[in-house]
Amino acid sequence: ELNENGTPVVAAAEAVAERIERERDYLTELDSAIGDADHGGNMARGWAAAAEAARDLDDPDPETVGKTVGKTLMAEVGGASGPLFGGSLVFASAELSDGVTAESAVAFAETYLEKVVDRGDASVGDQTMVDALTPAVHTFKKSIETDGLPPLEALAKAVDAADRGVAFTVPIRARKGRASYLGWRSVGHQDPGATSALYILEELLSVAADR
Ligand code: ADP
Ligand code: MG
Ligand code: MG
Repeated sequence: ELNENGTPVVAAAEAVAERIERERDYLTELDSAIGDADHGGNMARGWAAAAEAARDLDDPDPETVGKTVGKTLMAEVGGASGPLFGGSLVFASAELSDGVTAESAVAFAETYLEKVVDRGDASVGDQTMVDALTPAVHTFKKSIETDGLPPLEALAKAVDAADRGVAFTVPIRARKGRASYLGWRSVGHQDPGATSALYILEELLSVAADR
């Protein structure tokens, strides 16, 4: 079914903002082990502003909410993760111009991942958010296009895949971002950005399941 109303997307942005705020200290703890201890603060500040900007929109459509959230994240998160999470969202939101359907959601997810990889140049196994996003997007697409699952079930499978992707960041070595400066000392640490990506997906699922 076509959803041209952006209200659920605003609710998703609010849910993500609340979750990231709750996880703020944990995300910062992860970033203090292999980075500069700002990921929780960066994301909490960015998502609080993004949820507020989304809430302030008058009768928005999904594309407008996505672009607004993305632009605000780009402006407010900073660091390496701001342009990756935010800029990719601005770009991929164009896929939602005719509303949210199973088909447009797959196009959105693929475009989002493509943009993250374009900008950050990370591959699976580099200990970044790409390690959570790649299996999530591939699983979402396959679940819908090959297995014919309803979008909600496909999203649940994508969340499971992201969860395994986050676990996969622990035993590997960082090759992109600040953590890569540590070389082998990054082994044994969970990537903060991959962890944030998982929380975002979990909240999208929870808002979608509540509807
Ligand atoms: P910074 O490292 O600039 O302080 P953050 O702490 O907010 O920025 O974000 C760090 C996260 O950004 C990492 O955990 C990783 O997931 C992600 N990241 C960093 N560089 C890249 C990259 N080139 N490609 C994909 N993700 C990256
Ligand atoms: Mg950092
Ligand atoms: Mg930083």
